[in-house]
Amino acid sequence: MQKCIFIITIFLVTASLFAIKCPNCNHENPDDSDFCTECGARLRFTLEVRSNPSGASFYLDNIFRGTTPFSIDNLMYGKSFVIRLEKNGFETYKTTWTAKIGISPDVQEITLKPASGTVVYEIGSEPTGATLYIARIKIGDTPLQGTHSPGTFEMKLEKKGYDTLKQDITLSSDASNKFNFNLERTMKKDNPKSRRILRYASVGFGALGIGSYIITMNKYNEYKDNRDPDKMDDLYDKANTFEGISLGLLGAGAVCLGLSFAF
Ligand SMILES: [Zn+2]
Repeated sequence: MQKCIFIITIFLVTASLFAIKCPNCNHENPDDSDFCTECGARLRFTLEVRSNPSGASFYLDNIFRGTTPFSIDNLMYGKSFVIRLEKNGFETYKTTWTAKIGISPDVQEITLKPASGTVVYEIGSEPTGATLYIARIKIGDTPLQGTHSPGTFEMKLEKKGYDTLKQDITLSSDASNKFNFNLERTMKKDNPKSRRILRYASVGFGALGIGSYIITMNKYNEYKDNRDPDKMDDLYDKANTFEGISLGLLGAGAVCLGLSFAF
């Protein structure tokens, strides 16, 4: 009998440790409940944390969970949570927060304050995905939001296949500091590699053309001097063939040279 009471006590203590207390009616619910068995109140919720700007490190109860925007489910109503957001260039946001029944806690939207002495800027580009440098320091890929000390700085945007854009921007606490830049596609004639290849090819073809022309002239002279009628026809054919080849090579050289100006 005593043993039985002992087991029941253990069972009750364990049950109460893992039970979910309803924040609405204080009823103890089994730990896997989603709704209160007594009053029907929702016991768990999904929290979505968004920040402006996004991309902040999100910590819940001092444990890193992910980068904003971030959703975390299975949280219990009535419990207190410590929410912390960290982003480079911005002040750390920290709050202790209790989700109360009846207040929709599903979305927390947090605007981060720039670190003291800095201003927020927003830089975009068309097309996006250009690498941004401010004062020669690599910042990241567009579009992006960040903070910087106010002033005028050299800004550079780099993207493969587009002309590098370099200009001064002024960041100030009185301005919106929102910029959008159009990048120009790099023109093909600025492709020095293909131009160089074509010029080498034109010199090569030209040299071969001149070489075969010299051979042609030699064959022609041989033909002129030769009085053996059997050999004459053969040499005449050879001279003609070489003349054709040399003209073709010189033509190819001229085409390559012309193309090298077009690229
Ligand atoms: Zn309840």
